[in-house]
Parts: sequence; C-alpha cells; structure tokens
Amino acid sequence: MAPPHLASPAFASLPHVVVVGGGFAGVAVARGLANQPVRVTIVDRHNFHTFLPLLYQVATAGLEPADVAYPIRTIFGHARNVGFRHGRVREVDEAENRVILDDGTDLAYDHLVVATGATASYFGIPGAREHALPLYSLADARRLRNRLLSSLEAADARADHDPVALTYVVVGGGPTGVETAGALAELIGIVLRRDGLRIDPASVRVVLVDLADRLLTAFPVSAGRYALRQLQLRGIDVRLGQSVVEVGPNVLRLASGEEITTTAVIWAAGVTATGTLAHHLNTAAGPAGRALVGPDLRCTSCENVWAVGDAAAIPAGSAVLPQLAPVAIQSGRHCAEQILRVLRGQPTEPFRYRNKGIMATIGRRAAVAKLPRGGVIRGTAGWASWLGLHLFYLVGFRNRLRVLINWTWRYFDWPSGPRLIVADAETVD
Ligand SMILES: Cc1cc2nc3c(=O)[nH]c(=O)nc-3n(C[C@H](O)[C@H](O)[C@H](O)COP(=O)(O)OP(=O)(O)OC[C@H]3O[C@@H](n4cnc5c(N)ncnc54)[C@H](O)[C@@H]3O)c2cc1C
Repeated sequence: MAPPHLASPAFASLPHVVVVGGGFAGVAVARGLANQPVRVTIVDRHNFHTFLPLLYQVATAGLEPADVAYPIRTIFGHARNVGFRHGRVREVDEAENRVILDDGTDLAYDHLVVATGATASYFGIPGAREHALPLYSLADARRLRNRLLSSLEAADARADHDPVALTYVVVGGGPTGVETAGALAELIGIVLRRDGLRIDPASVRVVLVDLADRLLTAFPVSAGRYALRQLQLRGIDVRLGQSVVEVGPNVLRLASGEEITTTAVIWAAGVTATGTLAHHLNTAAGPAGRALVGPDLRCTSCENVWAVGDAAAIPAGSAVLPQLAPVAIQSGRHCAEQILRVLRGQPTEPFRYRNKGIMATIGRRAAVAKLPRGGVIRGTAGWASWLGLHLFYLVGFRNRLRVLINWTWRYFDWPSGPRLIVADAETVD
C-alpha cells in the first residue's frame, strides 16, 4: 500500500521510524521502508552517505571526495515517505521514545533504528588519538591527503631530502592498512615521476606495522603471503609482530624499543563502537561497545529499538558477525522487513547472513578475494572482481561513471588524479 500524501493528516498519523545513521545499514533500512505505510526520518551528522571502502583512494589522491559521497536527500528523492534531518543525535530516551539532537531539539519515534557505525579504535595507546591520522570519514581522508601532499611539497621546497620528513607509517595490516599502504606507494611513485618534485625516491619510505605475524588475518595464509610480496615489490617496509606502544607528534614507538621518526602515522588498526550512540543504549553491550541484538535485530532492552550494521553485535553461533559492508546492507534490509512485520502484527523472523566473501586490493592489478566457500582469487582476476564489486555498490550512477573514468585513466598511468591541497575553511585566509 502506498503512503498517503505528505500534506494529509493521514500521513502524519503513520507510524514514525527514526533511523540514526545514513551509512550502508541506515540507507538499506530506509530503502526497505520507502513507499511503505510508515513515515521515515533518517538523521545523520553528515548530509551525505559515505562509501567508506574507497576512502583510502580519496586520502591518496586517486578519487575526489564527491566520488565516494552522495547526498542522502538525493538518494530518497523518489520516496515520498522518507525524510532527512541533518544533525547529530546525542542521546536516546528509550522511556519516552524520543531521540535528542545536539541542538537540543528532539524527534519522537514509534520505532528507532540505530545505524551509527563505528569509529577508529586506538586501544588506549598513548598519543595515538592525538597524533595519528584515522581514516573513518571524508574529513579524515581529506586531512590525510593534505598532510601527505603538503609533506612532499615541503620536502621539495627544502630540497634536503630529509628521510624523517618523508617517512610514512601505516599502523594495521588488515584490508584498510594494506590498501592504504599500497595506494600511498603508488601515489608517491606518480608524484615523483610526473610532478617534477625535486625529491630523491630513495629518501621516501613507507612502513607498515602490525602486531600479528602476518597480513590480512581474516584471509587464508596464502592471501597474506601474496599481500606481503606485493607490498614489498612496491618498496614498502612491512614490520610484522610489532606492537605500537606510543605515538608522538612525529614518532612511533614500538615495544621492541625501536622509534620510527615519521611525518604521518596513518591509523588503520581497527574500529570500535565504544563511545558511540549504540554504546549508550540500555541494551546489553556486545564486543567493542556494539549494541547486542536478538536474532531479529531488536535490542535486548526494548521492543521498538533496533540496531544494525557496525553498531550492532549480531549473534552468529558463539561469535558475532564481522563489521563489513555486506553485513550492514543485509541487516538493514532485514530490519526494515521486520519493522513492517511488527506493524502488521506478524511475528518477526531471525536474520540469516549470506556470506559474500571479502576482498582487499594492494594496488594496480593486485588484489585478493576470499570467496564464500573459502577459495582465494588473486592478481589481476582478484583486482577486476574488486573493481566490479565496488562500482556495483557505489551509490549513484554519476559517481559510478566518474569512478570508472578515474580508474581507467589511472590504469594507464596518466598524470591525472586530484592532487589538490585544499585547506579547511577555518584555515583559509
Ligand atoms: C576505511 C574503511 C575501509 C573499509 N573497507 C571495507 C571493504 O573493503 N569491504 C567491506 O565489506 N567493508 C569495509 N569497511 C567496513 C564497512 O565500511 C562498514 O562495515 C560499513 O560502512 C558499516 O555500515 P554502517 O551503516 O553500519 O556504518 P557507517 O557506514 O559507518 O555509517 C554510519 C553513519 O552514522 C552516522 N552517525 C554516527 N553517529 C551518529 C550520530 N550520533 N548522529 C547522527 N549520525 C550519526 C555517520 O555520520 C555515518 O553516516 C571499511 C571501513 C572503513 C572505515
């Protein structure tokens, strides 16, 4: 049944579903509720949806910020019953069924979906939060790109080839760390070859540090070995089995006592929901502050509060599902279906995750994909699958087209790429 017209009293009397977060999970919930007999309001502190898996390409000047972001209002322009509210939710009043925003206003709900994702986890390492550069938002990616490009320009201006000023450390040997290190090495190669910087390539160093004794621990051992070889071929100094004990303004200290002096520490060591909205719900907390949900994705504390995506600890046997885009999308879709079932007076159904496999790219023509049944694809075939899948899931036809053109261009190694240092508004004269 289509919802009544927006201006009609019948529309105002429809059940109100508030979805906090317009990431993969929140968008999937709202898509599932679009053109259904409910009013939906998505609340997000950003007015756009961000495609997080490609942030590292923005940070390393492969893509523009606008290529990986899409206005939430535009996504739902066709859906009369889905509205958007720009703002940060600071609190949920579960007793009164309302959320309170940073500006003090509130929104009453009949059903609340918490889809607030996660944030970078610093594991309490002294100095990491203050001095390392995380990669969890578009602003993070732009900040990192500015830092990388500024450091190369500064080295060119000084022409002293100071190895300290040209050492970049990536912390984390999971997909984000591996992808960022590989893309960083490629960026530096292109900049040095094409932009005429007076920098000796031998003075530039990219180091990747991880506590584990191998890369990509969520993948089979052979995939980790392949990633290691590919990173080393690109000149990256991979330090495995090394734990970071402190980060300073220009230094990284390891448990071994070694100090790496560096111009940028890029933090790709993991994520947490501790401190986010999900962590402050009345429901029991799952691992890393995620909201524990039942099999139907409802929080254990409240009949009308749901959690999905990275914010939720979704049971899977004795463990919980990983924080991945397919989990977020599928849990969002399922949540929408269950809310509609509850509103129709039907019993809810348990969520079943369909494993789509995982992927990581190391650079041009080098990627690994772990298939749902455990097999591994790597090399050019893995890379082609990675490209196709990311294009498929990007939101918006124009974004897909722009990204496809950018990638095709870069494939042929032409000196393109948005290597712009764009200062934040407050620092512009
Ligand atoms: C750098 C990076 C690379 C990744 N690569 C991959 C990959 O290759 N493959 C893969 O499967 N997964 C990858 N992931 C994980 C994947 O992106 C996440 O699992 C997915 O984004 C989770 O979706 P979500 O909707 O739960 O959260 P998010 O996408 O994080 O969205 C959360 C939304 O909530 C909003 N929000 C948060 N708090 C509030 C609040 N209090 N008030 C209002 N709005 C709020 C945020 O602004 C954001 O828009 C990657 C993650 C990162 C960070």
